[in-house]
Amino acid sequence: MLSGTALDAKKMLRPIRREALELLRKLVQTDSVNIPPNGSETPAQLVLKNFFRAQDIKAELYSLDVLGTSNHGCIRTDRNYKGRKNLAVRFGGSGRGRSLLLNGHIDTVPPGNGKWSDSPWSGKLRQGRIYGLGSFDMKGGVVAEAIVMAALHRAGVKLGGDLIFESVVDEEWGGGGGTLAGRLKGDMADAAVISEGTQLQILRASRGGFVVDLEVEAGDAAAYFSSGAVVSPAIPLGRLLQWIGSWTERRQHLKTSGAYASVEDPAPVQVLAIEANRLDPNVPLSVPTKAAVRVYFQFLPEEDVGAVLASVRQSLDNFQAADPFFQSHPIRWVPLYDPPLLGHELAESHPWTQCMASCLQTVRNQPPVISAAPYPCDAFLLQKEFGIPTLLFGPSGAGAHNPDEYVDVPSVMITAEVLLTAALQWCGA
Ligand SMILES: [Zn+2]
Repeated sequence: MLSGTALDAKKMLRPIRREALELLRKLVQTDSVNIPPNGSETPAQLVLKNFFRAQDIKAELYSLDVLGTSNHGCIRTDRNYKGRKNLAVRFGGSGRGRSLLLNGHIDTVPPGNGKWSDSPWSGKLRQGRIYGLGSFDMKGGVVAEAIVMAALHRAGVKLGGDLIFESVVDEEWGGGGGTLAGRLKGDMADAAVISEGTQLQILRASRGGFVVDLEVEAGDAAAYFSSGAVVSPAIPLGRLLQWIGSWTERRQHLKTSGAYASVEDPAPVQVLAIEANRLDPNVPLSVPTKAAVRVYFQFLPEEDVGAVLASVRQSLDNFQAADPFFQSHPIRWVPLYDPPLLGHELAESHPWTQCMASCLQTVRNQPPVISAAPYPCDAFLLQKEFGIPTLLFGPSGAGAHNPDEYVDVPSVMITAEVLLTAALQWCGA
């Protein structure tokens, strides 16, 4: 049985279904790949701007220049923000309610080397799914948020509190610049939701994250195949992998009482890539002169990330000191981004969690699942840096950061229904 506001949300969204699907396909078909230091998000932001224009809604596209004049500690100075723009739609409330921010990122990772069945930008619709790069992470969620704004505008509903929608740049690769710029520009709220693909679960926590390349060079390439003893980093790399494995093991048994208490691997340590020559016809039969491994550390919301990383580095120093090869061929520590991302956690009893849970329950007519995200995201920037209670909630799908990524279209509409119901309840009509 749908309650008043949920029924209203369903009715308000119905007329916009077709346009929602069209917007989603167009966004997926528009390349918005982010490869640091650059990102090409603007064409996709223009697709959104045109959508809002057709709905007679004013959307602001603004530059990230504010990052250049702020000294906030989370700004990544190694990124190029020139020509990249956030998009925001702001509905002022009557002043008698709480405000809400709907946040989503429009950038995607590159398509990778895996084999896609169709072009990564096909936007193909098959069996109720839209396929393509960024469909699930997170253009489906961005569309759900955008049509909440469109539905409210169409119905002529004025909320009590302010409602802000923002489509930000540079979230992938631990960027955060887009979300930071939104806050530094002054868009604040009493609560926020990021509609990352969550399989229609409410995620009230996210992990911290840090990626580092461990590199080692071994000797003189000119000496290879011409001197007696050939020094190679390949087998020592195996020992380095074992050292990483010891951290994986150690972090698997971390005790926590928070949102990750029942998660099997609460703070994963993963190897993302290993390099030492390539199995490639263009690479001669040669012993590698260089080896590298890319390691991904994740952290619990309550952890002191700096302290954990300090003990990781101490442990690496000890490992190196005890290994004759690495004593003479030191390991280089090359972070992919620095400072690391932090986690965040919002209490289950928080009024915003409770509001979203009851709206999800009403819309789906089943008990809501409240859980914790298996990844880091922009949430800590909103909550830890700017005090905005933040949840993740978004559509179903699969294949984020992998070939044949897709988002389930009906779940995009359910996401919009839940978000619209929550906006009506939280902000007050
Ligand atoms: Zn994402």
